[in-house]
Amino acid sequence: MAKVESFTLDHTKVKAPYVRLITEEHGEKGDIISNYDLRLVQPNTNAIPTAGLHTIEHLLAGLLRDRLDGVIDCSPFGCRTGFHLITWGQHSTTEVAKALKSSLEEIADKIEWKDVQGTDKYSCGNYRDHSLFSAKQWSCDIVDAGISDDPFERHTI
Ligand SMILES: [Zn+2]
Repeated sequence: MAKVESFTLDHTKVKAPYVRLITEEHGEKGDIISNYDLRLVQPNTNAIPTAGLHTIEHLLAGLLRDRLDGVIDCSPFGCRTGFHLITWGQHSTTEVAKALKSSLEEIADKIEWKDVQGTDKYSCGNYRDHSLFSAKQWSCDIVDAGISDDPFERHTI
């Protein structure tokens, strides 16, 4: 089976919250796609409950696109400790960490239920499983912990 970079990361050595560049893929025509690890909570110590994670997912889909060029997708890890962010082009982890921090601050401080996109049976695959309360509290805790632009050394932005 193909070796996957994410599974070679020693999850006991990282210090969340952080942003990490996983890979840069270079296309035949010179296009570059970057894949980032947005680790919001410490692996095997914490995990964001699905309802809060689901609402954070719906919000980051819009908030990160407002802050960062070339966003293709931002999807949660199955372990519920963070998200993959896929973008066109290259961004420094500092730039991504700043966009993530600003997005989580907006969730914690400003977002109301009416601002959450995709919360009905037409626009979401499990619309009953959302919690803005949880999304706000976890976002607040992550911002308070500080987001590092390095996965192994705490270098908060
Ligand atoms: Zn959904």
